[in-house]
Amino acid sequence: MTTEPTVIEHGGGVWSIKVPIPDNPLGHTLVHLLDTDRGPVLVDTGWDDPDSWDTLAAGLVACGTAVEDLHGVLVTHHHPDHHGLSGRVREVSGAWIAMHAADAHVVRRTRAQQPARWLDYLAGKLAAAGAPDEHLAPLRAARSSGRMRTLPGLNAALPDREIVPGELLDLAGRRLRAIWTPGHTPGHVCLHLDEEHPTGRPGRGRLFSGDHLLPGITPHIGLYEDPDDAAATVIDPLGDYLDSLERIGRLGVAEVLPAHQYAFTDSRARVEELLDHHEARLRDLRELLSAPLTPWRIAERMEWNRPWDEIPHGSRTIAVSEAEAHLRRLVKLGLAEVVPGSEPVSYRAV
Ligand SMILES: [Zn+2]
Ligand SMILES: [Zn+2]
Repeated sequence: MTTEPTVIEHGGGVWSIKVPIPDNPLGHTLVHLLDTDRGPVLVDTGWDDPDSWDTLAAGLVACGTAVEDLHGVLVTHHHPDHHGLSGRVREVSGAWIAMHAADAHVVRRTRAQQPARWLDYLAGKLAAAGAPDEHLAPLRAARSSGRMRTLPGLNAALPDREIVPGELLDLAGRRLRAIWTPGHTPGHVCLHLDEEHPTGRPGRGRLFSGDHLLPGITPHIGLYEDPDDAAATVIDPLGDYLDSLERIGRLGVAEVLPAHQYAFTDSRARVEELLDHHEARLRDLRELLSAPLTPWRIAERMEWNRPWDEIPHGSRTIAVSEAEAHLRRLVKLGLAEVVPGSEPVSYRAV
């Protein structure tokens, strides 16, 4: 693995560092560095892995600073490719770590979680969604063997500051405001740098968009899985996501600095594309529901980036939660319903 940093200077005291994600088709996280009058601040940190750490550290040096000099870390959301190295950064630099309260709650919950409890929850949920025995068997085997792979969030750093949406963040000499964009996670935020674009490009500043708005891929929208939510609160993460997309589109920023892939300019067009994509997906899904189907059967029939037969076990689990998020949306719109008394649960169009 290379630790050669790939650094882009975006102008106006903003850089990005390409930090690799091990064994992941996404390839890398774009960690952003923002200069402030009290010292440099990171937006996200990257995956907790020695290569990623070395790349981040070398990247900071290439930007003319060092890990030790960091003043703070702003985390767009709790996922390990964004928040993974935050704890190590804080250890070395004494930087604060800030996150939206809803994702800080997920971090606290995950740290306290017993892996066995999580596997029980997951197996129960998948069975209720109509998953076949061959999908449940590996989960049950892992549960009974006690040899459970450690969840990546078990050691995630507890944030020490809250990102409060709508207010200017306390960053000396910069105008940065958080916009709450739930959907990909319950506490995802985009960070709006409400300053003139360094090249004078028309539009309202720049947006650190995290995983919310990416140029070539759509973020996963699941169900904010919470094993402790005994009341099984009815949530609609896809609805949340579409609402927050519209909000971001209306900002009319000059440039988007996402956490994966590459920076891009036409944010409104990209928002429209994503809204159209999900609308088409909901339409197709409703057609599938002319006969009752379980979420598992629906996931098998939905379009993914490869045929269902080639989708590995873990990704099938994620696909089912994405199918459920779409079903939840259709039900909320009054376009589908649960078939009364069905077990595993089935849905049909209305
Ligand atoms: Zn993410
Ligand atoms: Zn990500």
